[in-house]
Amino acid sequence: MTDTLTPVLTDNWDADRAWTLASYESRGGYGALKKALGMDQDAIIEAVKDSGLRGRGGAGFPTGMKWSFIPQANPNPKYLVVNADESEPGTCKDIPLMMASPHTLVEGVIISSYAIRANHAFIYVRGEVLHVVRRLQNAVREAFAAGHLGKDIHGSGYDLDLVVHAGAGAYICGEETALLDSLEGRRGQPRLRPPFPAVAGLYASPTVINNVESIASVPSIIERGADWFASLGTEKSKGYVIYSLSGHVKKPGQYEAPLGITLRELIDLGGGMREGRQLKFWTPGGSSTPLLTDEHLDVPLDYEAVGAAGSMLGTRALQIFDETTCVVRAVLRWTEFYKHESCGKCTPCREGTWWLVQTLARLEQGQGSEADLDLLLDQCDNILGRAFCALGDGATSPITSSIQYFRDEFIAHLAQGGCPFDPAASTAFA
Ligand code: NAD
Repeated sequence: MTDTLTPVLTDNWDADRAWTLASYESRGGYGALKKALGMDQDAIIEAVKDSGLRGRGGAGFPTGMKWSFIPQANPNPKYLVVNADESEPGTCKDIPLMMASPHTLVEGVIISSYAIRANHAFIYVRGEVLHVVRRLQNAVREAFAAGHLGKDIHGSGYDLDLVVHAGAGAYICGEETALLDSLEGRRGQPRLRPPFPAVAGLYASPTVINNVESIASVPSIIERGADWFASLGTEKSKGYVIYSLSGHVKKPGQYEAPLGITLRELIDLGGGMREGRQLKFWTPGGSSTPLLTDEHLDVPLDYEAVGAAGSMLGTRALQIFDETTCVVRAVLRWTEFYKHESCGKCTPCREGTWWLVQTLARLEQGQGSEADLDLLLDQCDNILGRAFCALGDGATSPITSSIQYFRDEFIAHLAQGGCPFDPAASTAFA
């Protein structure tokens, strides 16, 4: 089974002091940068396009295409911004990557900035993870001292300044335009798109914003070639990714494998379900993607197949729940999170998530009526597609999908006048 794994990004996480420049360089680190600096910038963009790399932040937008949208004739400076504001519930891949191997990201930033002709790059890190901020700052300092950053990098004539910026801990700042407002010193709230950041982003200048894992994948594409990367994965979902496996499995953690692996294979890699338990439901890409069930164990984890199964691959945050978990309670917890994190800019999300919590809490306590289920679906309908950004839409996903698959469980709460589950049996929401 282990031959399905493709350790690239996670390969050296256990190496002695893997996060240091000395350790990274001893494994060939910054070799891809030296190769890239000898390449034509457009050839790097073409290589990333040919590799089929799609954005690893959740949406899966083709990375090379995004880079090619940067209008090079625009006289304004070009910027690269790395979205390191990983916050989607269940998503835990960028933070361990930056802790274990920050230089993989820094090398990716330099190659990517060179390709899009940016001389300033930023890594915007989620505010709560101060240890990650410090680790990245140390890595950036080391890279400057070694001449990988700064003026005339390795005699190429190319200059790059890289700043690590800590947010203040708001989920909305992972939305790319809210992130830009926050980086510019304003309250982080989403901007209207279009214009997309590629045209008018940071300081109204052309800006590429990519997720940590997307940018960290670039050195491997330059080093091993676009064909190698494209040979992994499925027809339209190429390459390898990090899956965050959490919840009721024996060995939760990060598993790196090609796109298209199934949940059944990943659960086997994770040592199986915890003792004697059965899979009940799971999220393919964090709690903002519709829930799936044990019917979907053999769905290939790629953008197309997960979409065809009625969900979204998203951030590949596989949260696994067994039959001891109350789905109503789990969904209520997520909904409380979205209500708390709604930025308040648009009414459907600000008011709608408040109403979702009220209705769900009533049902979870067994105090509502069956009509509340239709009310809940109506509330979701009034948010989906009407909110200013993806936060509102995402908040409705676990609700509509849990009612689709587990309507009887909602009814059981009403019949019993409370939750029929033993909260002590489930470790997921203790
Ligand atoms: P999106 O599909 O609107 O955009 C994806 C990317 O493509 C963006 O960078 C956008 O600028 C670019 N883009 C799209 N169309 C473009 C065009 N015509 N021209 C130029 N650029 C274009 O998705 P989104 O709203 O940015 O993100 C939603 C995703 O975020 C969800 O799929 C979810 O999985 C993910 N998400 C991730 C986290 C996390 O912690 N990593 C948290 C919440 C949500």
